[in-house]
Amino acid sequence: MSLSAYLHIPFCAFKCSYCAFNTYTHIEHLIPRFVEALCLEIAVVGNQRPHQCLWTIFFGGGTPSLLSPQQFEQILETLDRHFDVQPNAEVTLEANPADLRIGGVVYLAALRALGINRISLGMQSANANELKLFHRRHDNDDVAGAVRSARAAGFDNLNLDLIYGAPHQTIDSWKNTLEQAVALQPEHLSLYALGIEDGTPMKAWVERGHLPAPDDDLTADMYELATDVLAEAGYIQYEISNWAKPGRECRHNLQYWRNWQYLAFGPGAHGFAGGVRYAVTRSPHWYIKAMMQPASTMLPYPRSPAVDQAVEVTREDEIAETLIMNLRLLREGMSLSEFAARFGASLMSLHGDHFRRAESLGLIEIAPDYVRLTRAGRLLSNQVFQGLV
Ligand code: SF4
Repeated sequence: MSLSAYLHIPFCAFKCSYCAFNTYTHIEHLIPRFVEALCLEIAVVGNQRPHQCLWTIFFGGGTPSLLSPQQFEQILETLDRHFDVQPNAEVTLEANPADLRIGGVVYLAALRALGINRISLGMQSANANELKLFHRRHDNDDVAGAVRSARAAGFDNLNLDLIYGAPHQTIDSWKNTLEQAVALQPEHLSLYALGIEDGTPMKAWVERGHLPAPDDDLTADMYELATDVLAEAGYIQYEISNWAKPGRECRHNLQYWRNWQYLAFGPGAHGFAGGVRYAVTRSPHWYIKAMMQPASTMLPYPRSPAVDQAVEVTREDEIAETLIMNLRLLREGMSLSEFAARFGASLMSLHGDHFRRAESLGLIEIAPDYVRLTRAGRLLSNQVFQGLV
């Protein structure tokens, strides 16, 4: 089974109003020591099981585009030393379009030369009022400029992230965002329904009545609109929230949705490997401190000194997680033969009653070799998933 690596870069120049990710502002001075700590963490885990094959690498955040090409070189060389990074590995970098405003082509060409081959841009919206509400530091011209720079630097695999279901967003403004995103011809689009998360300015504004709460019906209409607009533009919806041109599905995210193994590096990163689900400590300060202390003993795979939660995954949990994640994949669904090969049991013997009930409600399609969500089931997926845990 293939293995992936997620590296969390926990720095942002500004905090967006809706964001609850593990990311921090005004600590960019820590970046050089963080990169050192990250390389130490890669080495610790790599030495526990030397030269495992890595098929995908994902720099997420936070804002990875705050790091310099030299810093990426240091990290990628460390990965190469301790893992067998496959020659055709997918290597993704999340970038803020604002960071590519000046010198974008030069910066991106340097990253491309290092082997980074996929860029994911946080476009979020094409509407100035929505970007302002989100406290994004880019504008729509930055997105177009970043796409141009990425193409000029040799990237042929781009993703745009978009947000729908936001307060004051209308069907028309969402349609404008979709159309402008499609006009930029990315290979991949990820669409996120805005969540109002605890501790964010957005949540405070909604609670104080300064902003309307998201409207579930309107959000569902926006999702339906996206499904039609993107199908018309030649994108295949391969996952509940993700669309791609044929053959351009995100291999790293497929790893998550198939519930295959991925290593986690960096503050707040979550991993699943060696039968363990684990999380790295969230604080960048603690992370650096934990990684810089001299190691007394070798920790069991896949733990580094900065891991502060690790839980052995039971077979029962792995089955439930595998089903829920695979059902997010709208085209492939859960393959009955793969399930049987992985768990030594027939899916229908374990969950046949639940799936047949969901089928009678029109939420699930059961075929000889797979079960998968129907179009109606995509909107009510939680109802299907709840019966599996
Ligand atoms: S750029 Fe991304 S990670 Fe950073 S604050 Fe905004 S949404 Fe969060």
